[in-house]
Amino acid sequence: MKFARYEADGRYHTGIVQGTSVIDVTDLLEKIAVNESALKARGIEPATGGLMRWVQASTSVREQMSAQLRERLVSPQTAALPMAELRLLSPIARPGKIVGVGRNYADHAKETGVDPFEKPRIIFKMPSSVTAPGAAVPKPAAVKKFDFEGELAVVIGDFARNVTEDQALNYVAGYTLLNDLSAREFQFDITPPQTTFAKSMDGFCPLGPVLVTGDEIPDPQKLRLKTVVNGQIMQDACTADMLFPVATLISYVSQYMTLEPGDVLTTGTPAGIGAFQKPPVWLSAGDRIEVSIDPIGTLVTSIV
Ligand code: MG
Repeated sequence: MKFARYEADGRYHTGIVQGTSVIDVTDLLEKIAVNESALKARGIEPATGGLMRWVQASTSVREQMSAQLRERLVSPQTAALPMAELRLLSPIARPGKIVGVGRNYADHAKETGVDPFEKPRIIFKMPSSVTAPGAAVPKPAAVKKFDFEGELAVVIGDFARNVTEDQALNYVAGYTLLNDLSAREFQFDITPPQTTFAKSMDGFCPLGPVLVTGDEIPDPQKLRLKTVVNGQIMQDACTADMLFPVATLISYVSQYMTLEPGDVLTTGTPAGIGAFQKPPVWLSAGDRIEVSIDPIGTLVTSIV
């Protein structure tokens, strides 16, 4: 299934995407059982509804619920809303944490001119940087080296702690797209690097447009990722080129910190970012970035 969150009549809704339409399932998601004590034990307030409640439910509850959700899709009284007319929101509005990884594609590692890392290089984006698909992101006036990074993002669906690579994909609720916008002067030109700051400014984390459930992407290493800036292809890669696949990243991070339902793990960017173009290409007002992966769709962001 493909979930979309959207705003209508002053309320937040969650729907299932069918072709070019969206079927509202907000009422069904409110009824999903979640393990409230497990969430509260870690200081997480259980979601009262919406896609976050679905993500917080256990894998088996989500599987049971899928049948009910699919029934709604065939019910003749359900109005199908044209997706193109909806004001979409990020699948996860405020992840508990956004875990990223540096230089995780072989071709990108090569263009940086240094040897690939032997272990994942973990970086973070702050949750307050998340912005909706289609958002207009303001370039901070003082930022001169504003860059994009098209990425496959994983939404975690269960508490993952010390999980093996074999088990790791069982902890995935679904997949979406993330544009890891970065102010390179804070990442590359300052010692020590201020990487989290560089990647966490307001609006620097476009996320969406939809969440595709894990069962629809059984192998996340077989996806084609493309980033287009102002109509020009800048990144075109296969996720098979990742140095540390999704399962390895989940397992690795979970040895040190618990991944929680609704956390976002973003898996790195392939070659072609603006910083390594000759000469470098920096984003400015009026630019439009489209990050695409076929079964997920296109995440569009404009710069203002
Ligand atoms: Mg990145």
